[in-house]
Amino acid sequence: MTTSPLFYQAGPAMPEVSHGHGVFLWDTDGKEYLDGCSGAISCNLGHGREDLRDAMLAQLDRVAFTYRTQFENAPAVALAEALVEMTEGALEKVFFVSSGSEAVESALKLARQYFVARGEARRRHFVSLRPSYHGSTLGALGVTGYQPLEAPFADITAGSLKVPGPDFYRQRDGDRDAHVRRVLEETREKIEAAGGETVIAIVLEPVGGASTGARLVDQAYLEGLRALCDEFGCLLIFDEVLCGIGRTGTWFAYQQWGVTPDLLITAKGLGAGYYPVGALLAREAIVETVMAGGGFQHGHTYAGNPLACATGLAAIEAIRREGLLENVRARGEQLRHGLEALQARHDWIGDVRGLGLLWGVELVMDPVAKTPFPAEANLFARVTALAKEEGLLIYPRRTLNGLCGDHFLVSPPFTINEHEVEQLLERLARALDRLDR
Ligand code: PMP
Repeated sequence: MTTSPLFYQAGPAMPEVSHGHGVFLWDTDGKEYLDGCSGAISCNLGHGREDLRDAMLAQLDRVAFTYRTQFENAPAVALAEALVEMTEGALEKVFFVSSGSEAVESALKLARQYFVARGEARRRHFVSLRPSYHGSTLGALGVTGYQPLEAPFADITAGSLKVPGPDFYRQRDGDRDAHVRRVLEETREKIEAAGGETVIAIVLEPVGGASTGARLVDQAYLEGLRALCDEFGCLLIFDEVLCGIGRTGTWFAYQQWGVTPDLLITAKGLGAGYYPVGALLAREAIVETVMAGGGFQHGHTYAGNPLACATGLAAIEAIRREGLLENVRARGEQLRHGLEALQARHDWIGDVRGLGLLWGVELVMDPVAKTPFPAEANLFARVTALAKEEGLLIYPRRTLNGLCGDHFLVSPPFTINEHEVEQLLERLARALDRLDR
């Protein structure tokens, strides 16, 4: 094996990528892979897109980088306007960043500054879910509920009040409504124990990503959280880094339940994998208070640069022009049927859940007790490796302390067609059959 100067994560040697087109990638040995997870759920428009390339080149020919405090730039204004319009005007202000973690940091800091500006510096706690994933920087990690990632840093992050989110697969409360009531009650108890007047915000993903394998919330839960925030005077923050920008079939996932947050963060698909760009969207009144209180003490060098914003704008225009939200919904239904058919064939597929083109498949040792496989079984790694051998990329996560079994995400580009969904399912079926043996 060659030694590379790169160090990411321990794992098997990787093939070297050659090129990509549409939903496919090829390695330098000529092997084809169907990108069943859009890279890291980021390449939402697939690979090798000429329209994005052209938009980026056109911007590069004008200017690649200007600093946000020196120049207004038209792509940034246009992208911000597009994002506001995508929330139907519910969130009126935008702050650009370059990644999901930066977006989370920005939201946490804006929320805190809002209360400081209002003379409520006593508010210092965030509430977040376990399991959850909100990013890898120390602030974002503090609100993340994913033990293996938190553990080495638990002593040095600000941390948060961790509460359970709804788990409609493992609920033991009988009916769904009772489960939601109990989860909300536990959240209220945690907030009251810390002192409701000390809480800054509740942070959550409306559709879970890597940490939960696309667990869903429901209307009653989101309404309950909104009511808790209103009662305790804290903010509601939705992390749509992964599930935003059309991934679930609407521009933002929260729109499927009609409960509006105070702050919303998004990234990944915003740059469609072509350039890193993320955004924090906020209610105007919050931003006005912070600005009146001395301004937002925060920023990142590459935030809102012209090339990033021109790329994001071109990606959104492509989704609009090609009617891709409709395709996400239609292909999503096809994928759901196919994954449920696979579930019927393998009793260790415990749950299939998701929305649009974001599907989670949870694997369990015992389908009745819903017991996860032991972590040592390394099931997530085996499934991923088998799928890759069969020419399919999926996005895996390991068992999470009994809170969730091994799972993987299936989340292909929005451009996938009917035949390609069939190909995806066939390759997955072959990989899962081999796991049986
Ligand atoms: N929030 C969520 C919900 C995510 O899925 C991710 C990335 N997987 C992040 C935040 C962090 O984004 P990034 O990796 O771009 O920093």
